Amino acid sequence: KKKYFWKSEFYVDTNVLDPRPETEFIVEQLLNQIKDKNKKLKILDIGTGSGCLAISIAKEYCNSKITAIDISSKALKVAKKNISLHNVSKQIELKLTNFDDIQSKFDVIVSNPPYLTLDDYKNSQIEIRKFEPKIALLGGNDGLKFYKLFSKKIHKIMKNNSILILEIGSNQYAPCLSIFKNSKLKLKKVTKDFQNIDRTLTFIKI
Ligand code: GLN
Repeated sequence: KKKYFWKSEFYVDTNVLDPRPETEFIVEQLLNQIKDKNKKLKILDIGTGSGCLAISIAKEYCNSKITAIDISSKALKVAKKNISLHNVSKQIELKLTNFDDIQSKFDVIVSNPPYLTLDDYKNSQIEIRKFEPKIALLGGNDGLKFYKLFSKKIHKIMKNNSILILEIGSNQYAPCLSIFKNSKLKLKKVTKDFQNIDRTLTFIKI
């Protein structure tokens, strides 16, 4: 029921995806992009799950305000618990919603969305199917559902010069670039995970 992520320990249960080391690249990329840790950033974390990303970012950028959203009320209970364990309730607001209901614009958006294809999911280890929530893993038949829906909202929720850092699945680099082709995003960085698979994309909104 405990997982270490970035610099802290988090409570986890079967209602949230266990934090994975590759997701730490999102925090690392943000630190590379925004060096001033005192900046008052307005940040959105989509699909917060355990809250590990939002909380780690809140601790790095202590003047930032983070809206952490999820469509799973059970996941939000876990996030709430972690937020109080880490004393960051002043910085993080939790919301049970999807990004369609978000009306304001952000300086930074991060997300580790569900991105497995149906085949990936069916072929995943039994432990994953047994102990991890399907809703956090399965990204529609082709794994790209989140990116396709999100690309249509970018102009409404990203400020000019804002930063978007997304985790992606294996072989999703090219499809994601094509999905975001018309979204006025400039690709800044691609990071590879420990198995040399393209794992995060960092964009600037132009
Ligand atoms: N990397 C995770 C896995 O393969 C998938 C995470 C996700 O879909 N966001 O188990």
